[in-house]
Amino acid sequence: MRDLAANLARQLDRQKALNLYRTRRVLESPAGVTAVIDGQRYLSFCSNDYLGLANHPEVIQAMQQGAADYGVGSGAAHLVSGHSRAHHALEEELAAFTQRPRALLFSTGYMANMGTVSALAQRSDTLYADRLNHASLVDAALLSQARLRRYPHADLATLEKWLGDDGAEPKWIISDGVFSMDGDLAPLPQLATLASQYNAGLIIDDAHGFGVLGKHGGGIAEHFAMDATQVPVLIGTLGKAFGTFGAFVAGSEDLIETLIQHARSYIYTTALPPAIAQATRVSLRLVQTESWRRTHLIHLVARFRTGMEQLGFLSMLMPSPAAQGRASVAGERSEGFRMPEATTPIQPLRVGDAARALALSQALLAHGILISAIRPPTVPQGSARLRITFSANHSDAHIDTLLDALSEVL
Ligand SMILES: *Cc1c(COP(=O)(O)O)cnc(C)c1O
Repeated sequence: MRDLAANLARQLDRQKALNLYRTRRVLESPAGVTAVIDGQRYLSFCSNDYLGLANHPEVIQAMQQGAADYGVGSGAAHLVSGHSRAHHALEEELAAFTQRPRALLFSTGYMANMGTVSALAQRSDTLYADRLNHASLVDAALLSQARLRRYPHADLATLEKWLGDDGAEPKWIISDGVFSMDGDLAPLPQLATLASQYNAGLIIDDAHGFGVLGKHGGGIAEHFAMDATQVPVLIGTLGKAFGTFGAFVAGSEDLIETLIQHARSYIYTTALPPAIAQATRVSLRLVQTESWRRTHLIHLVARFRTGMEQLGFLSMLMPSPAAQGRASVAGERSEGFRMPEATTPIQPLRVGDAARALALSQALLAHGILISAIRPPTVPQGSARLRITFSANHSDAHIDTLLDALSEVL
């Protein structure tokens, strides 16, 4: 490997030339609407802490008490001796919250997806995955070694054709609930109908819907009022709207037992710190009881979209025309799909070119606003964007500051 250093340097240079080089900013503040970087304060619009719970005093207090009661590390994997009363109680509360018989905690959403898909799908199965699914679902599909077919985003006609054309092998439809980089909703009722019609399993990763959608924050399943028979494998993460860390899978008794037996990313890893589970139990309660956080988010998004319309920028907001086109594919009135897009706190601004996205992000920084540029391969080639996200801790004045800055830099 004499050439290793030179090879790596050449590859990194190429990435820089393509404006795809990634760097990290060092944060000196807690997660929140204000970010301190290099001693400077910025108004942040790019975190997934949608409900503003990551730095909530009651959640912090529960974490501190949890550390006092259980220590810091869990000490072992769940199946050895790491499964504490705190984990167990949280699993029971997540099952009740999702109205599923059981829930199983994973250490991260990435691991929940890897473990679930690879435990369920055999090598001889076929997986049908939305092309805009999160990278962890793509990696999970690859790990399973099943045949993978990626259908164009929300394209139900193509999905149905493929399901009909393929043989009698076991099939799985896999989709984000709320798409992480676009903010639109999967056409879940139609996906469930296709799954039932073609005898396919349905795996939904609702990392961005939980806490945000539904009257009680139950995510896309609550939004569309879909039960465990319609959405049998429901995955959520805890590091986003819940404001803590970790993930869970909710479903039937047999699903959870299967994962305990076979999900390698569950079995072969240290259990989450129990203090995190204790903190999450409090955030789970706040998610359900403090519905004003969701109401306020919807208000903020509406204020933002109205402001963008007044500035003449509304058409720059995603989702992509392709996603809007699916309305006709799904045989629904296009108005039917406007509402969900306008109610998720993910409001990406389409830019296209990676260099321009970086330049805009930089220009906003000069106006005191932090929004990172999202570039390939996180999003498809030519669809670089500023992924603007809102938190229940933002105020009307924050939205107006953002709109002023956008009108300057665009
Ligand atoms: C963030 C995210 C994940 C990963 O969750 P982590 O807990 O951060 O590992 C999985 N799926 C989707 C759709 C996500 O947005």
